[in-house]
Amino acid sequence: MTAQVTGEEAHVTSYVPVTVGGTALVEDDRASMEVRSPATGELVARCAVAEERDVDAAIAAAQGEVATLTGMGPRQRGKLLFAVADRLEAEAEPIASDLSAEQGKPLTEARGEVAVAVEMWRDAAELVRHLTDELLPSDVPDREIRVSRRPHGVLAVITPWNFPATIPTEYLAAGLAAGNAIVWKPSELTPVTAEHLRRCIAEAGFPPASVNVVPGPGGSVGATLTSHPGIDAVGFTGSPQTGHAVARAAAGRPQLLELGGNNATIVLEDVDVEAAAEQLHPACFANAGQICSSTERIIVRRELHDDLVDALAAVTDRIRLGAPDDPETTMGPLNNRPTLEKVERHLADATDHGARIVTGGRRAEGFPTELYFEPTVVTGLTPQMLAFREETFGPVAFVTACDDDEQAVELANDHDLGLISGVMTDDPQRGRRLAERIEAGIVNVGDPATVWQPHTPFGGASGRRSGVGRLGGRYTIEALTQLRTIVTPRPSG
Ligand code: NAD
Repeated sequence: MTAQVTGEEAHVTSYVPVTVGGTALVEDDRASMEVRSPATGELVARCAVAEERDVDAAIAAAQGEVATLTGMGPRQRGKLLFAVADRLEAEAEPIASDLSAEQGKPLTEARGEVAVAVEMWRDAAELVRHLTDELLPSDVPDREIRVSRRPHGVLAVITPWNFPATIPTEYLAAGLAAGNAIVWKPSELTPVTAEHLRRCIAEAGFPPASVNVVPGPGGSVGATLTSHPGIDAVGFTGSPQTGHAVARAAAGRPQLLELGGNNATIVLEDVDVEAAAEQLHPACFANAGQICSSTERIIVRRELHDDLVDALAAVTDRIRLGAPDDPETTMGPLNNRPTLEKVERHLADATDHGARIVTGGRRAEGFPTELYFEPTVVTGLTPQMLAFREETFGPVAFVTACDDDEQAVELANDHDLGLISGVMTDDPQRGRRLAERIEAGIVNVGDPATVWQPHTPFGGASGRRSGVGRLGGRYTIEALTQLRTIVTPRPSG
């Protein structure tokens, strides 16, 4: 870490500064905020609150670095991306440990996240090294038409707390691969992982102002960044509400917006119920349900409903809620109080409207913070309930019964978000027919919502509120570049 905090708070491990042009700005008068462990309540770090002048300076520094990055060419940038991957891999264990401490996910999940981030850096490196221009046929015989991908320029990146290594990597790796210079505001809840990433990028040899970090709250720092006239494009992952504010603030500039989901998994009557419950277990409870692609609503054929609910309750019994650094733990606490309160609000609303809690449904007792929540199964979800209409983002499997395929599709589509969906069936053709009618960016047949391979296009369906554009492998590089067409006289001879 750049600067150690000393004095009475001896257990503080780090201070996350504003970093502009490779220099940490640690003047005494800059405000800071606490980062507390959701698992223990202890202070794990302090994080600077960037000021307007810091955002100005970061954008100016980035503007000055775009020419260096583009001048390096894609193959040289690719080499540096490989070097970032190697550094991250070499430091995977301490990074995973810090990630787990500030985010709350079990250490095993944090290790998995860092490993995926490493692969994403390598993927971006390989993809950009093979980026080619396209020559289009010309209607005019003596003209050559060349279409190439150029960086946007200065890319503003804003990221959430639920995957503090992989989600920023989606933008940083592809953004740098394409030659953009970046100003990044990570989540104020997970800035320590952000600082690790920034340091690995700098140590890999990227020019100093390639990635500038302006930490702090979204309402002030994030809003200043996204409305700043000096940015050329925005990459944002977060809630629909914030994403829509970002879209307005950065209106007219290219935007990649990855927002929330209220994802349905349809379970048809031909599946093995125990196997389906096993597949739904991580789909509902990994990262304590705090995943944009989690299965938020299970729509099951009525003849299978009771058996599936029993099987889900049985797999839920196996979950070991506990401290993230305990090897026995399979589910950690929720990350923050607003998320906890939203889960409770959705459960109270559901039971008020007739839903039944089969298991769980409360804060777990005997833990150091209030953020540990029992894994929960609820049945009787209906379209009138908040949990049916909005993303819950917690460890709850909400179940509703349907009578036929037609009703299953109607229920799956009866909400405003459209990120990912699943159709669990042993009949791929029937699953495919349903998948064609579900309005989501990805539909898995034979797997629940949640399953995503990071090189495939991920994003919200058009007409819904889950975002704009696609990320994943080459699709992120496409989104973080602009097409430039140059028409020249064709060389004679
Ligand atoms: P959030 O919208 O509260 O915050 C996301 C980021 O935006 C944070 O860095 C925050 O500080 C910043 N921010 C807040 N207000 C802002 C403003 N006015 N202007 C600019 N920036 C602002 O979301 P969160 O609670 O951090 O994350 C959870 C949400 O993210 C969920 O809805 C989840 O589904 C979504 N998410 C989506 C994906 C995806 O790929 N589609 C992936 C992960 C998470």
